[in-house]
Amino acid sequence: MPYDGEYATYRPLHRISECQRVKGLLSRSKLLEAARATYAPEPAEAPPQVATLPRFILAVDGSYAEVDVKNGYPGAKVGYCTAASVLLDLHLIGELDANRPVDPVEFRKTEQAASVDAALPGSNVVTRRQASARASFREELYDLFTDIVVDEDDRTNLLSTYEALLALKPTANPQSCPYKESHGCTGEFAVSSGCTACPICGRPVYSTDALRIHERFRDIGTNGEAFGLVMQVIERLLVIHFLRCFERRRLLERLTSLAFFIDGPLAAFGPPAWLSAAISRELKRLNQKAQAASGQDLLILGIEKTGAFVQHFEEIDQTETPGQQLFSPRQYMLVTDGYIKERILHSDSHKRYGEDTYFGRKFFYKAQSGARIVASIPFLSDAQDTIDSDDVSLYPQFATVCTLLDRVVSSRYANAVSPLIAANAQAAIPLQLGSKVLTQLARALPGTAENGG
Ligand SMILES: [Zn+2]
Repeated sequence: MPYDGEYATYRPLHRISECQRVKGLLSRSKLLEAARATYAPEPAEAPPQVATLPRFILAVDGSYAEVDVKNGYPGAKVGYCTAASVLLDLHLIGELDANRPVDPVEFRKTEQAASVDAALPGSNVVTRRQASARASFREELYDLFTDIVVDEDDRTNLLSTYEALLALKPTANPQSCPYKESHGCTGEFAVSSGCTACPICGRPVYSTDALRIHERFRDIGTNGEAFGLVMQVIERLLVIHFLRCFERRRLLERLTSLAFFIDGPLAAFGPPAWLSAAISRELKRLNQKAQAASGQDLLILGIEKTGAFVQHFEEIDQTETPGQQLFSPRQYMLVTDGYIKERILHSDSHKRYGEDTYFGRKFFYKAQSGARIVASIPFLSDAQDTIDSDDVSLYPQFATVCTLLDRVVSSRYANAVSPLIAANAQAAIPLQLGSKVLTQLARALPGTAENGG
């Protein structure tokens, strides 16, 4: 017979938070008293708006959906991944009525702007040449990178950009053979370019295995994590890929007319995190060339829509006085290492926050429209590669970044790249990869005549 209290576990959540166990745990946990904190949020005035902005923003925004498929095996799933590359024309945005609501038809057009779309095997989907879903996933990922080409006149694929970054990966820490779990192979080696073989078991190894996304792949169940990692990598690789294409065409010096916006922070998380250091090195190299030619830094921005920083910015912006916010429009705050460790992600580590994952640093910005934006700017030189200082003069493009955000972020569609594209749908030009994207871009960028590279 059940007796009173036996079904205690079914109590509503608000009562669980009141229960003795939870209270006990909280009483043993650290409590952050904002009033006693060493670091207080201090909004600073953004530099004055700049008169000259780049004409274009290249926005890269990836997403994935895991869908059930029927192939005779239970729980079979496929990951459908898309990465839209959209060119926002600021001249057009300027001509449009800022208050006009988003036209759903125009919005759908930009949604169709997927320049990468790919289906990757999920659980219980095994391609003909393979013996498991995981092996199929690995091979399809390699093929996907091989297939992605930006421009029909420049057949360099995404794989070549990826492998250029792989060449920067330290070889000191060899990784386990991808067949360790399935076949018990004990091989440990540094993965090299192309398709090679494991020195122990002789099975095929792809250069993309170095991303180790397959280690998060599950033969049974959902693979949201693996597909999310694939999209994270493709978005970041695409930006480096574009930059390298521009370099080959000697267009880097004309990049002053182009800014890159990426969805999410300027970082790489999870097993592919090593990419972050490689991307950082490559960005510094490319920036040096761009600097030498144009005297300006590259313009790259990551915008994040969720997570601890977004939540924190919302919280500190609310003051005790109703209706009064801490940040006024056009105020910003560069987030420092000390601030992050005390106020956002508690840590007493001496290691810099995000040292292994970030190739840029975060800041809070309240745009002219009042929208709160959590964004990151890249480290483009060794001097910029710090999060200890809140000296914004280290980042000469900061004034341009703030002005750009003022221009394109509406208060209704704050944060994240896709709403930004949607809000400016009428001025968005989808880039169909594989066509003459670079030639089109080169024509649009001012400067010397493009001679086809
Ligand atoms: Zn092996």
